[in-house]
Amino acid sequence: MTEENIPFAVPAIGQDEIEEVVDSLESGWITTGPKVRQFEEAFAEYVNAEHAVATNSCTAGLHLALKVLGVGPGDEVIVPTMTFCATANVVLHLGADPVLVDVGPDGNVLPEAVEGAITEDTKAVMPVHYAGQPCDLKEIYALATKHGIHVVEDAAHAVGAAYRGHKVGTDALGPTLLEGTGLHSLVVFSFYANKNMTTSEGGMLVTRSDELADRFRRLLLHGMSEDAWMRYSDRGSWYYEVTEAGYKYNMTDVQAALGIHQLRRLDRFIEIRRRRAETYMEELANTDGLRLPRWKPDRHHAAHLFPVVLDLDRLAISRDQFINELDDRNISTSVHFIPLHLHPVHRDRGYREGDFPVAERFYAGEVSLPLHPKLTEENAIRVAQAVRDILETGGGTV
Ligand SMILES: *Cc1c(COP(=O)(O)O)cnc(C)c1O
Repeated sequence: MTEENIPFAVPAIGQDEIEEVVDSLESGWITTGPKVRQFEEAFAEYVNAEHAVATNSCTAGLHLALKVLGVGPGDEVIVPTMTFCATANVVLHLGADPVLVDVGPDGNVLPEAVEGAITEDTKAVMPVHYAGQPCDLKEIYALATKHGIHVVEDAAHAVGAAYRGHKVGTDALGPTLLEGTGLHSLVVFSFYANKNMTTSEGGMLVTRSDELADRFRRLLLHGMSEDAWMRYSDRGSWYYEVTEAGYKYNMTDVQAALGIHQLRRLDRFIEIRRRRAETYMEELANTDGLRLPRWKPDRHHAAHLFPVVLDLDRLAISRDQFINELDDRNISTSVHFIPLHLHPVHRDRGYREGDFPVAERFYAGEVSLPLHPKLTEENAIRVAQAVRDILETGGGTV
C-alpha cells in the first residue's frame, strides 16, 4: 500500500487567476500592458513602497538592481554563501566580485561577517531573507551607513514577511536609516512557481528612489525611453530613443494576470503556511537529533521554507538516507542550499571547503520539509510522524 504523494511545493492557482489569464489572452494585448501596471500599483501599496517595477524574474531584477547602482568591474558585492546561485551569478555578470560570507544558525547572513568583509572596493551587500525570515536589517543598514555601501535585499523568500512591524520591501526602515547618505535600498522579490506567490516566472523590484526606479524601468526594456505599451497605444507615438543598451527583462500581462490575484490571496497563503509550520514545530518538538527552525519574535516569518537540520554527530543515519526514507514514504523534500562556495564556479575563484563552517554544517544536515498552501493539516502530521519514525527506528541516536 503506497500512500498519497506529498509534494514539496505546488502552486495554488485559483479560478480568478485562470479567468484573468484568459481575459489577457482574449484582449489582444499579451505582453507588458495595463495588467502589469495594475499589478505594480497593487504591489507597491501592499509593501508600502514608492515604486514597484515588475520583471520577468527575481534574477533579472537583482541583476538590474546592481546595474542601476553602477556596480561593475573592480567592485565587490557581499553575498551570503547560503543562497541560491542567482544571487552571486548576477554580480559576476556585471564583471564584479561576489565576496562570500558565512551565515548564522538560522541561515541568515551574520552582520559581523558582513562588516569583516567590507573593503574600500565594496559597493553593496545583498542580504537574503532565508526561508522567509527577515535578516537583521537594523544592523545591516547601520553597517551600510557606516561604511557607505548600498543594500540590495534578495527577498525571493520574503514576500509578505515583516521586520519589527515593517513589511520587507517597505521603505519605512532601510531608507530612513540611509536618508541623506546618497546610499540606496533596493528590494527584489521572486514569483517563481514554488515561491509564496507566483506569476509562473516573475519578479518585482521596489525602491524609494525615483531616479533608480526610472532607470530600472528603462533598462528592463532595451533602454528605450518609452515602453512598448505606451508607444503602440493611442496615447503614445512611434518615436523612442535608446539611451543605453538595455535588457529584455519585462513582465507580461499574462504573468501579471496571475500576480494580481495571487497578491490578493498572499496573506491567506502565508497564514496556512505558518499554521502548517506550527504543526511541524509542535509534532517535532524534542525529537532527538533534530534541530527545528527558530523564529525570531520581532519578525513576521513568511514561512516560505521549513528547514530542519539533522544533528549528524548524534544520528546513525545520513542526511541523504533520511531523504530517501522520506521518499520511500512518498514524501518529497528539498535541500536549501548547497553553499555557493562549494560550487565549481566559486571554487575556481579561490573558495575552499572549510571557508564557512556554519553554512557547511547547516547544509550537511539540512532538509526542507513540504510546505505550501495546499498542504493539509493531516499531511503535515503524516510528514512529522514519518520524520520521527525514521529518526527513532532507522536513525537512532548514537
Ligand atoms: C528563487 C530564488 C531566486 C531566483 O528567483 P527567480 O525568480 O527564479 O529568478 C533568487 N534568490 C533566492 C534566494 C531564491 O530562492
